[in-house]
Amino acid sequence: MNDDALPFDVTLLDKLADVAVGTGLNVQPGQQVVLTGSAETLPLVRRIATAAYKAGASVVTPILSDEAVTRARYSHGRDETFDTAPDWLFSAMADAYGANAARLHVSSENPMALSDMDPEKVGRAMKAQSIAYKPALEKISSFAINWSIVSYPGRAWAQLMFPELDGDTAQARLANAIFAASRVDRDDPVGAWSEHNAELARRRDWLNDQNFAALHFQGHGTDLTVGLAEGHLWQGGAAEAKNGIVCNANIPTEEVFTTPHAGRVEGVARASKPLSHQGRLIEDIEVRFEKGKIVKASASRGEDVFKKLLDTDEGASRLGEVALVPHASPISESGLLFYNTLYDEHAACHIALGQCYKDCLRDADGISDDDVAARGGNASLIHVDWMIGGPETEIDGITQNGDRVPVFRSGNWAD
Ligand code: ZN
Ligand code: ZN
Repeated sequence: MNDDALPFDVTLLDKLADVAVGTGLNVQPGQQVVLTGSAETLPLVRRIATAAYKAGASVVTPILSDEAVTRARYSHGRDETFDTAPDWLFSAMADAYGANAARLHVSSENPMALSDMDPEKVGRAMKAQSIAYKPALEKISSFAINWSIVSYPGRAWAQLMFPELDGDTAQARLANAIFAASRVDRDDPVGAWSEHNAELARRRDWLNDQNFAALHFQGHGTDLTVGLAEGHLWQGGAAEAKNGIVCNANIPTEEVFTTPHAGRVEGVARASKPLSHQGRLIEDIEVRFEKGKIVKASASRGEDVFKKLLDTDEGASRLGEVALVPHASPISESGLLFYNTLYDEHAACHIALGQCYKDCLRDADGISDDDVAARGGNASLIHVDWMIGGPETEIDGITQNGDRVPVFRSGNWAD
C-alpha cells in the first residue's frame, strides 16, 4: 500500500488520477463523488480523491471491497445465504446518483479470484447482487449522471497476464500497458484525449448519418447479421450525461457502439478472444442466432458457465450492444490479453448479451421500458461483452433500402 513499494512510476498514477477526474468524470464544483474499487487500488483512489477535491468536489466517498473477504464468504458462508445481497448499500448508491453524485469505479479485479469457488454459489450471489444493484445501475446505464471507470495495475491481475514474470516485473508491465492505453504516458494526456474524442465523434456521426438497418460481420468464424434498433443512436468517446456534464465513461475507450434489435440478429458469432466471467475463463464461444435469440451455444472451456449466463433471464440470450473497434488501436496493438472487459472490449469489435443502453436510442428521454422494447431494445439483468473482431474482420452496413456500404475492411475502418 506504501507508494515506495510500488514497482512502477507513481507520477503516472497522478496523471491517471487527473485524467480520471478531468476527462473521465469531469467533476463539477460542489458535486459529490462515489468511488468504488478494491482495497488494493488505494494508491490511485487517494490520488483521485485529491484531484477531485482540487476540482471542487464536495464529498468523495470511497466504497472498497476486498478479495480475501469475498473469498471468505464463498468458503464459509451458509448455503441458504447466497441469494442475499447488501440491498441497503445499493439503495444508498441509487440515492447518491439520484442526488447527482458522480460515480467512478477503479477496476483492478483479478478475474480468476473466484475460479476455485463453487460456481453455483457465485452465480446465485451475482444474481442477487444484480437485482439489488438494478436501480443504481439504471442511473448509470441511462447516463443520469457523469460516471467513469479507470483501471489500477493490481498484482494478481498482472500475474495472471504475465505468469512467466516475477510479481514486481509483471505489475510494472501491466502498469505500463494501462498508462499507455489511458494516454497518460503522453506530454499532454488531457489534450491527447480531446483529439481522440474528436476522432471517435467523427466515426459516430458518420454512422448516425448512415442510419443502417443492419451490420453484417464476417471473419474469424463469424458470419452474423446484426439488425439495429429502430431509431438507434451510435455513441462513443465523450458524451453528455443527463445532468449536463460531458464525461468519458471508460478510460481507456476505443469503441463506437449502439443498440441492436433484440429480434433481428441472424447467423453465427464466434468469439475472437476468451471471455473472463465471474472468475471463469470461457474460450472459443460459438453461438447461432435465430430471430435475435441464441438457439445453439458452445464453448471449448467454461461452457457450463456460459450456458448458465444465457439462462439468467429471457434477455440474456439476446444482444444489448454492438460495438466497432479498429484493429489498429493502442490496446489491440499491445497484443496483450487483459482478461478484463474494460480493456479487451476496447481491443476488438464486440457484441454484448443482455441489457441495452437506452442512451443508444434517439429521443430516449423519459422513454418507457415498453417503448424501448417496441423499438428493439433488449432488457436483462446482465450485460456481458465478448469479442468477435480481429485483423480479418469485414463489416458491411446494410442501408434501409438494402444496399451495402463498406464499414470495415481487414479489421479497420474502410475509408
Ligand atoms: Zn462496448
Ligand atoms: Zn458493453
